[in-house]
Amino acid sequence: MDEFDFIRQILTPLAGPEGLRLGDDAALFTPAAEHDLVITKDAMVEGVHFPTGHYGGDVAEKLLRVNLSDLAAKGAQPLGYLLSLAIAPPVSELHLRGFAGGLRDVQQTYDFTLWGGDTVSTSGPFVVSATFIGQVPSGEMVKRSGAQIGDDVWVSGSIGDAYLGLQNVLGHKLSPKPASTQIWHWEEAYLRPEPRLLMRKLLRHYASAALDISDGFLADAAHLARASGVGVRLSIEDVPLSKATLIWLEGQADILQGYERLLSGGDDYELLFTAHPNHANALTEQAKSLGQNIHKVGEIIKTDQPSVTSYFHGDAVTFKKTGYKHQI
Ligand code: ADP
Ligand code: MG
Repeated sequence: MDEFDFIRQILTPLAGPEGLRLGDDAALFTPAAEHDLVITKDAMVEGVHFPTGHYGGDVAEKLLRVNLSDLAAKGAQPLGYLLSLAIAPPVSELHLRGFAGGLRDVQQTYDFTLWGGDTVSTSGPFVVSATFIGQVPSGEMVKRSGAQIGDDVWVSGSIGDAYLGLQNVLGHKLSPKPASTQIWHWEEAYLRPEPRLLMRKLLRHYASAALDISDGFLADAAHLARASGVGVRLSIEDVPLSKATLIWLEGQADILQGYERLLSGGDDYELLFTAHPNHANALTEQAKSLGQNIHKVGEIIKTDQPSVTSYFHGDAVTFKKTGYKHQI
């Protein structure tokens, strides 16, 4: 199938009105009055972000979900996206249709459309990337840089599930041997992270700073500390863990080493955010009414240098590994 058949037959059904049926040179979008556009991009490479030979719906789902997580962290509502594909031929039509099926599922779940993109062939690995356009009421985007001394530090969902999911996907043996229900839970977290879009209004109202955790809980806490010019003090025992992950952690000979793996593993796509302590009750109650779990994991403190300090039941602990970095 050539580029144009692919676009016409498989991608055009996913397009919104802004995409002009993917039949023009560009998309056309009229921004809503009194709103700002929030724009983000994430790319994924075969062999780096997903296993070699995977071209199906799982790759598409993850690509859209990680982008949506960035919009959620900024308090933004997704509107549409541009999709770039570098495809190594030959790829079966079944794979391409599977990929589009993944796009369609996420579009329908979170209500946004395809506006355009580019399709090229490559002799290298499969590369997919999406540029998302979202919106917030003017001036309300939540930045990484607003944390204030004395703020509480919060995290959504649970941390470490995706790390353990990746270990399974990579075929690394976990010890103690997990039950199949644990593996299912972890792989689901790794493959289909839930972008916390339901939290976006809450963040806009109460959060002083926010980011989404993609590189690793500790590394991303350090990103927030640096952007805000503050110290982040974490109580490690308060970091929320799923039941499946808690069982794994309790089976580790060295609990802190177990924590280090979970908190530096990355791929969580949970939100880390800060808010004035006065908002704690409103945050807890409103998150609960949205069916979202949030936990207070620390405070913002004054330090000479932006930094993250971790405590475990009151004792200072140092973690050597904090997250993932691509070497370029
Ligand atoms: P040009 O060659 O002028 O850059 P293309 O032929 O690549 O244009 O694209 C034609 C139309 O198809 C455009 O509307 C473009 O946005 C759309 N398109 C191409 N590839 C994709 C893709 N991967 N996802 C969504 N739309 C695409
Ligand atoms: Mg991000």
